[in-house]
Amino acid sequence: MTFKVPRGTQDILPEQSAKWQKVEETIRHLCHTYRYEEIRTPMFESTELFQRGVGDTTDIVQKEMYTFTDRGNRSLTLRPEGTAGAVRAYVEHKLYGLPDQPVKLSYIGPMFRYERQQAGRYRQFVQFGVEAIGSKDPAIDAEVISLAMNVYRTVGLTDLKLVINSLGDKEVREAHRTALINHFEPHIHEFCSDCQNRLEKNPLRILDCKVDRENPLMETAPSLTDFLNEESATYFEKVKHYLDLLGIEYEVDPNLVRGLDYYNHTAFEIMSTSKGFGSITTLCGGGRYHGLVQEVGGPDMAGIGFAMSIERLLLALEAEGKELETDSALEVFIVSMDDAAKEKAVELASTFRAKGIATEIDYASRKMKAQMKAADRQGAKWVLVLGEQELADNAAAVKNMETGTQEKVPFHDLVNYLQTH
Ligand code: ATP
Ligand code: MG
Repeated sequence: MTFKVPRGTQDILPEQSAKWQKVEETIRHLCHTYRYEEIRTPMFESTELFQRGVGDTTDIVQKEMYTFTDRGNRSLTLRPEGTAGAVRAYVEHKLYGLPDQPVKLSYIGPMFRYERQQAGRYRQFVQFGVEAIGSKDPAIDAEVISLAMNVYRTVGLTDLKLVINSLGDKEVREAHRTALINHFEPHIHEFCSDCQNRLEKNPLRILDCKVDRENPLMETAPSLTDFLNEESATYFEKVKHYLDLLGIEYEVDPNLVRGLDYYNHTAFEIMSTSKGFGSITTLCGGGRYHGLVQEVGGPDMAGIGFAMSIERLLLALEAEGKELETDSALEVFIVSMDDAAKEKAVELASTFRAKGIATEIDYASRKMKAQMKAADRQGAKWVLVLGEQELADNAAAVKNMETGTQEKVPFHDLVNYLQTH
């Protein structure tokens, strides 16, 4: 009997996990400087939270959720995204009562969606996201976008495109909705069954349909931009102004709409423009939402956030041919030539590790030459050789693997030597 990882999931082996850690470190550092504090919510929530929070008409709720009934007969769902859980926690713990608003949260962790597997699309993937809840200041929209862009830039990506749009406010969306229904209704039989359902429930989502993308009615559909009222237009101008101030380039795409139902005003996506990138080019999606906090039982608070998957970030790096510099390097490998030397090696390894020096020793009773080879394979900066003579002298032979030079260093001086050379 043999086993394989479930379809759409992957093992991240040590060589890869060093890259993951580097990305996570970058993210944590940036979140710290931007003051988005981490929130950790459960991996599963009540199914109803996602039905309400993500929206009944979305692909996520309609086709992609891992829903199960637990032994207490509750319907639970593995989280398909992070916003619903973060907003639930914001309401449950009354974070809206904190004196400093907006509350700025970040999360990073696995999400689960039952999707068709393809490059850049997994059934378990890790999303990093932020939510700033409790402010309608356009400056926060620009801050959130700038944080997302900065994550990509800091890991070394350059082939990026930021696309933004305004979805307007409630009044705008209502007027646009009517226009959309009038536009699509006479021809709705030409569209997929999902779109036929969307016509009444959420016609905006027809524009987001991947099946009917080529239908000419998509091109001629009424654009949200033409419906923006003064308030929405002013808001959008301010967001763009702040982005200009921050030196962040963007393209306005009137056809950019987001799959989730609560989005209003600012919507944005960051794509990879690298030639090596496959057909899915979106790295990050986000936007402003209103009504979500109320929908899960809280007060009338607006928020803005984004989500990006680490998988796609790593794919983008690969497509650009960029290597992440990882710092998993081994500092010291201690070669021991007999049992007495092995004891000393165990002791020294413990001393070095306590001082934060990454150390490895031999656990396979290999000959000296084989141990030296292992040290080389593992990229050790130093090799310490311990044999009969070294024990008698209370000193180790220390070899610098880069230069090939060797020195005899007294045991009591080793830590100092390794730290200063
Ligand atoms: P798509 O149109 O690609 O299905 P989406 O609208 O479902 O995207 P969001 O829910 O906005 O995506 O998720 C935000 C980001 O999370 C995406 O831009 C992408 O980077 C990532 N993402 C979404 N689904 C997956 C997945 N199945 N595997 C890996 N990353 C994903
Ligand atoms: Mg999707």
